[in-house]
Amino acid sequence: MKRIVVVGASLAGLRGVETLRRRGFDGSLTLVSAESHLPYDRPPLSKELIRGEREPDQLLLRPKDAYDELELDWRRGHRAVALELAERRVVLDDGERLAYDGLLIATGGAARALPGTDALRGVHVLRTLDDALAIRSALEAGPRVAVIGAGFIGSEVAASCRQLGLDVTVVEALDVPLVGSIGPTMGAACAALHADHGVALRCGVSVDGFDGSERVEAVRLSDGSRIDADLVVVGIGVRPETGWLEGSGLALDDGVVCDATCAANAPGVVAAGDVARFANPRFGESMRIEHWTHAVEQGMAAAARLLDGEAAAPFAPVPFFWSDQYDVKIQFAGRVRPDDEIRVVHGSIEERRFVALYARAGRLVGALAWNRPRQLIGYRRMLREQASFEAALAQAARSS
Ligand SMILES: Cc1cc2nc3c(=O)[nH]c(=O)nc-3n(C[C@H](O)[C@H](O)[C@H](O)COP(=O)(O)OP(=O)(O)OC[C@H]3O[C@@H](n4cnc5c(N)ncnc54)[C@H](O)[C@@H]3O)c2cc1C
Repeated sequence: MKRIVVVGASLAGLRGVETLRRRGFDGSLTLVSAESHLPYDRPPLSKELIRGEREPDQLLLRPKDAYDELELDWRRGHRAVALELAERRVVLDDGERLAYDGLLIATGGAARALPGTDALRGVHVLRTLDDALAIRSALEAGPRVAVIGAGFIGSEVAASCRQLGLDVTVVEALDVPLVGSIGPTMGAACAALHADHGVALRCGVSVDGFDGSERVEAVRLSDGSRIDADLVVVGIGVRPETGWLEGSGLALDDGVVCDATCAANAPGVVAAGDVARFANPRFGESMRIEHWTHAVEQGMAAAARLLDGEAAAPFAPVPFFWSDQYDVKIQFAGRVRPDDEIRVVHGSIEERRFVALYARAGRLVGALAWNRPRQLIGYRRMLREQASFEAALAQAARSS
């Protein structure tokens, strides 16, 4: 393999190029990035950055002066607009065609917007550094904030805004937030966390529209009520950035469809990170994971797939994420369903310092920790080993 093109220069793409060089790939390595910033870390955007506690140059994923050694042929500020599979070429927005032997797709996701909000000032999404800087500057005026969606990003924005002393209302269509990620019991614990910090949480309602002609003045809800707001942050999820691949012949299904080695359905093409839907052999299901740790691990695995070909080891991660809200570090490993059995094995929900384990058919399927990072480590290992629930409970009893 002589020429590798990586499209997307964020976490998965950067970890991919670093892995290629570390593993001795000495051919040409082209990195295409739509954003003109140096690759930066997204998790602090909804946390320290919008609170004004960190600056953009403190978010770099790699020191500024450490790029030369990667010997990148970098197309910064350029978007890939098409893929010519038969010719093995990526087409850029300026018409340039980049020929490749290997292609790593790491274009991540874009924040979903609410229809009809494009022209309305004061309505924001949060995905990029520029989004976060725009929100930070809007927060300086001390606005009344409405957050649409109580997923992790919406919850973190709400927490940050409360930490800044602002009035915050969160609107969530589900009856309990985060049911899909951590189940109803722990979703309710997250709701209580926000309520205790003074967030007005409105669950089971959706957004009907907005009042205000040029600038948002209020959010209209499906139950007929209205929330006065000067700033609205929409956190209703992410859509994978696959628009540029449509019609190319690459299999797409809410992401780039990959096998268990991150390989797409075309020779020399792999995908990683938020954009990749892959067959996870550990779970026997296809999944697309939007977490930081996953983007790192899959970026590395996809790079290894380019170098090792079909001999590459299957990529079989246990999903893991964290979220920081107020003074609580929430960490979760595994994959759960709303009807999984759940047991708090260390601490208690009331003291907001606990570990809860999730079980299905006698197996440990998830572990959630609030402010107990050290204790989670052992359960993450047990999840990788596909331990029984009984073994996990025995471990909990031993370490209590
Ligand atoms: C505000 C925020 C907070 C988060 N907090 C946490 C957290 O606390 N914990 C956690 O586990 N995860 C968190 N995440 C998720 C984590 O940051 C993502 O999973 C991770 O960034 C995914 O990396 P990626 O490289 O796959 O995609 P992205 O980071 O989305 O990067 C994709 C890159 O590709 C570029 N691109 C897209 N299309 C094209 C194109 N056609 N041509 C060229 N370039 C293109 C994009 O501009 C972007 O730079 C958070 C995410 C956000 C947005």
